[in-house]
Formats: sequence, C-alpha cells, structure tokens
Amino acid sequence: MALVPFDDRDGQIWLDGSMVPWREAKLHVLSHGLHYASGVFEGERAYAGNIFRLRTHTERLLNSGRILGFQIPWTADQIDEACKAVVKANGLTDAYVRPIAWRGAEQLSVSAQQTRIHLAIATWAWPNLFGDNRMKGVRLGLAAWKRPHPETAPTASKAAGLYMIGTLSKHAAEAEGFDDALMLDWRGRIAEATGANIFLAMGGELHTPTPDCFLDGITRRTVMALAKHRQIKVVERPILYEELPNASEVFLAGTAAEITPVREIAGQAFTPGMITETLLGDYEKTTRMAPAEVDKLIA
Ligand code: PMP
Repeated sequence: MALVPFDDRDGQIWLDGSMVPWREAKLHVLSHGLHYASGVFEGERAYAGNIFRLRTHTERLLNSGRILGFQIPWTADQIDEACKAVVKANGLTDAYVRPIAWRGAEQLSVSAQQTRIHLAIATWAWPNLFGDNRMKGVRLGLAAWKRPHPETAPTASKAAGLYMIGTLSKHAAEAEGFDDALMLDWRGRIAEATGANIFLAMGGELHTPTPDCFLDGITRRTVMALAKHRQIKVVERPILYEELPNASEVFLAGTAAEITPVREIAGQAFTPGMITETLLGDYEKTTRMAPAEVDKLIA
C-alpha cells in the first residue's frame, strides 16, 4: 500500500485553538521544538466514537510538558474537548489521535524561556496492523540502544527526543527482518519495545518490568487491571534478559499496538496462548465500553 504523506491529506487539524485545513497546519523551520526536541506528544485511540481513557492521556500530556519545563496553555477540559472535536470534524469514530505540544520560534538557542508553547491535535484512521492475524505474533530483535538512566533523560515524559533511539532501534531490527525491537535498560534489564510496554507470562502469572526509566503506559495499566479482574496475579519487578526462557507467553501493550502477541525475541520462540488471548479479548471489549464504565472497571 502506497504511503500517503502526512502533510498532504484531506481533513482538519486542531492548531492552537482553531480547526485548520490539514495542508495548512504548518510551523516555521526555526521552531525550537524541531531543533532541540522540546516537544511532547500523546497517542490515543478512539473506538466507536469515544477516545479511550482520554483524560488520562490529557493529564500525561500536560505532565510531559511540565517535566520539560513548560506549561501547555490549555486546561485538561479544553484539551479533551479539542481531541473530541477534531475526531468529529474528520468524520471518524475509530481513529488514532495525536496531540503534540512544542516550543515555538521566538528564541532559538538552548535557552528557550521566551518561546510560546503550541498545541496541535491531528487524527487519522489507523486500524490494528495485524488485524485477524494478530494471535500469530510478531518477531522482535534485540536493540543495541539502551533505555537511559532517569538521571540522564526525562524518561517519565512522552518527549519527542526519547524516540531518537527508538527509531534507530526499530530501523536496525527491520533491517534484520524483525517487526520491532526489544529494548533493555542501561542495567541490561528488559525495558520495553520501541513504542509499547512488555508483559511475560511466567508460571501462570503475568510479569512486567518496573517502569523506572520508561513510560508506565496507559495500556499497561489497563492490562494490569484487566488481569486482576481475571484473578491473574500481576508481578511488577525488575526482569533480566536472561529470564526470557522462563516465559511461556510474551505480548506488547500500547495504544497503537493494543495487545500484540510476540512469537520470537532474537531467536527465542514463544507461543501466544491463553493468557494473551484472554487479555487481548478483554482489552478489545473494554476499549468499546462507555467512558464511565471504563473508569469503573479500571479504578
Ligand atoms: N513505551 C513507549 C516508548 C511508547 O511510545 C508507548 C506508546 N505511547 C508506550 C510505551 C505505551 O504507552 P501507552 O499504553 O500509554 O500508549
């Protein structure tokens, strides 16, 4: 399928408070966000007309900005409404939603105290890449890049700059024929994939790495709640790469990836099974529930 460039599409993008035609949603090349990666973003999904866990995403966006030292000049209520409005304006009910905030062009130096903070929200149809084939699972290579120590990068922020090593890792994995890469942290522990968290089924329990240097994903949190409802014990702990052979099932969890079974990590095979299939089904059902029902279930 030919890729339709992201700057040449029909539709509307919410930009700094107004809906603008897609092709006119532009910024200047001397924007601080482009040169110094002073940008934070979100990835959300709308299902059947509702953005799943919208307020949690909006709060993370505001917090990601604060971690980079800026205040996004909109309230959580305003951002929620803008996200809903842009989905509606594009005539979508099931879609990916991408809010992004960045420092503007008022000042172009490491210091950026005078920059204005911009916010844009775009949305487009992005069905799950694997569709009905999903239980087959994806293959992960092992990344050479490591998730950094939290004292070397603002790792709790969904900050653009943190994706630099994600793209490098994903490209290296793709060059070797893998779908994605497993990233370890600086200690050699299992961290996550390039755009999703990881879960391992071990002895009937669900184990997942402690998110002390990577995103504690919203999908990750949802999966943990769903597992508890199923009386599956969830263990959050440091997990060494050497422990991988003890896992019977492995899956990824993220807004874009949803629940994606893994069938191989760098030569080690896994068979997606009952735990993955159960949680994949539960997640699919939950994403289509009314927002108030979701809140009750996840709380
Ligand atoms: N880690 C990374 C690096 C990601 O990009 C994402 C996707 N936002 C996640 C984890 C999962 O986060 P969430 O479930 O909130 O989408």
